[in-house]
Amino acid sequence: MAPRITVIGTGYLGATHAAGMAELGYEVLGMDVDPDKVSVLSSGRSPVFEPGLEELLARHLASGRLRFTTSAEEAARFGDVHFLCVGTPQKKGEMAADMTYVDAAVDALAPHLDRPCVVVGKSTVPVGTAARLSQRLADTAPAGEAAELAWNPEFLREGYAVQDTLRPDRLVFGVRPGGRAEEALREVYAPLLGAGVPLVVTDYATAELVKVSANAFLATKISFINAMAEVCEASGADVTQLSAALAHDDRIGGRFLNAGLGFGGGCLPKDIRAFMARAGELGADQALTFLREVDAINMRRRSRMVELAREQCGGGFLGRRIAVLGAAFKPNSDDTRDSPALNVAAQIQLQGGQVSVYDPKALDNARKAFPGLNYAESALEAAEGAHVVLHLTEWQEFRELDPLVLGERVAERRVLDGRNVLDAERWRAAGWTYRALGRPQPE
Ligand code: NAD
Repeated sequence: MAPRITVIGTGYLGATHAAGMAELGYEVLGMDVDPDKVSVLSSGRSPVFEPGLEELLARHLASGRLRFTTSAEEAARFGDVHFLCVGTPQKKGEMAADMTYVDAAVDALAPHLDRPCVVVGKSTVPVGTAARLSQRLADTAPAGEAAELAWNPEFLREGYAVQDTLRPDRLVFGVRPGGRAEEALREVYAPLLGAGVPLVVTDYATAELVKVSANAFLATKISFINAMAEVCEASGADVTQLSAALAHDDRIGGRFLNAGLGFGGGCLPKDIRAFMARAGELGADQALTFLREVDAINMRRRSRMVELAREQCGGGFLGRRIAVLGAAFKPNSDDTRDSPALNVAAQIQLQGGQVSVYDPKALDNARKAFPGLNYAESALEAAEGAHVVLHLTEWQEFRELDPLVLGERVAERRVLDGRNVLDAERWRAAGWTYRALGRPQPE
C-alpha cells in the first residue's frame, strides 16, 4: 500500500510540498499550529502567493487526497512518512537559527508515534540537528527506534516552488546506514526518481550541509558581483557589461551574477548567519569568515541605494516624495521577509522622506511588517508627485511600465534602477534621468 504522508508546517515550503505530494498520488494530511492557515488551506486557497499553488491545492482538496488539520496527534496517527517543514528563523539579536519550532514539532508528534514510521526533516537546520533529533525520537516515541529520522533538505525557489517540487534539480537523503528510511524515501519519491531526478544518499551531517553550503555559494556569487559593482562605481566602469562578459566563461556562468540591491528573503540572509554561528560552535569559524563579508557587501547595497536616492533628491529627503516600486524580496512572490525594498523604503522614511510603496502581490505582507509606511494600489499612484522613483523588485509589471505615462505623474523624472533590468535607453528617451547601481552616469 502506498505510504500516507503528513506535512508538518504548511508555510511557503510545507503548503507546496503537501500539494506536490498529493499531485504525485499520495494521501496527504498537512498540519500547522496556525488555525487561520489551516482554515484557508482547507478551503482550497493558498495562504501565500506562489504561481500554480492555488490550482494544485484546489485540485487535490477536490480529489480528496489532501486535507489539513491543527492536530499533531491526528497527523502522527495518519502518516507513515512525516515531513517536517516548520520555520527556522534567525534568533532575535543573534546570528544562530531558532530551533524552537522544529523541536516543538518533533515533541508534539513523538508521543503518538506508536508504529514504524519515518520522520523526514526538510527545514534548513544547523549541522548536527538530525543526529540530535534522531536520539530525541528514539527516547520519546513509543515505537522507539522504529520511528526513524531522515534529512531531506529542500532546494525549492519561491516563485518557482511548484515546478521545483515536482521536478527538483536533485534529491538528497541523509540517512542512518542500515535503516528503513532510505527505502521509504525511495518509495515516496519513486515518480521523480523514475523521471531521472538525480539522487545523493548520504549521512545526516552531509545532507544538512548540502543545503547551507548551496545557499552560502549563491549568496557569495551575488555579493561577488555586487562587490564588483562597488568597484565599477568608483572607477566609472559598467557592472552590467562586466557581468555579461564574465558570463561567457562557462566556469563562471551568468546565473546569480546580476548586480543590484542584493539578496533578502526568509532563507539566504538567515541561513548564512546561522551557518557562521554553527561553524563557530564547532570550532570551524575561520572557515566561514568570508561569509561575514558576503553579508556586509549585501547590506551595503541597501545603504548605497538610500545614498543615491538622497543625492537624486538634492541632498536630503525632507519634503521629498519617493516612489518605491516593489516590496517583495523577489518577483513572483509575496514574501517580504528581510526584503531589501522595504528596508530601503523604511530607511528613507526614517530620514524624513515621504515614501509611497507599491507591489503587485506583497502589499498585505508589507503592511503587516511595516505598518508605518504609505502604500499605493498601483505604480502610477505611487509615482504621483514623486521626486524620484526607485525600482527595487524586478516584477515583469515594472519592466513593462511606459516611462512616458509614468513621467506625467511624477514631479521630477528621476529613476533609480536597483535591479539593473529597466531599459535605460527607453527611460532616457522619455526624458528621465536614469541611474543604476554599478553603472556610470552618462555625461
Ligand atoms: P514559513 O514561516 O512560511 O512556514 C513555517 C510554518 O510552520 C508556519 O505556517 C508555522 O505556523 C508552522 N509551524 C511553526 N511551528 C509549528 C509546529 N510546532 N507544528 C506545526 N507547524 C508549525 O517558512 P518557510 O519559508 O516555509 O520555511 C520553512 C523551512 O524551510 C525553513 O527552515 C526554511 O529555511 C526552509 N526552506 C524554505 C524555502 C523557501 O523558499 N521558503 C526553501 C527551502 C527551504
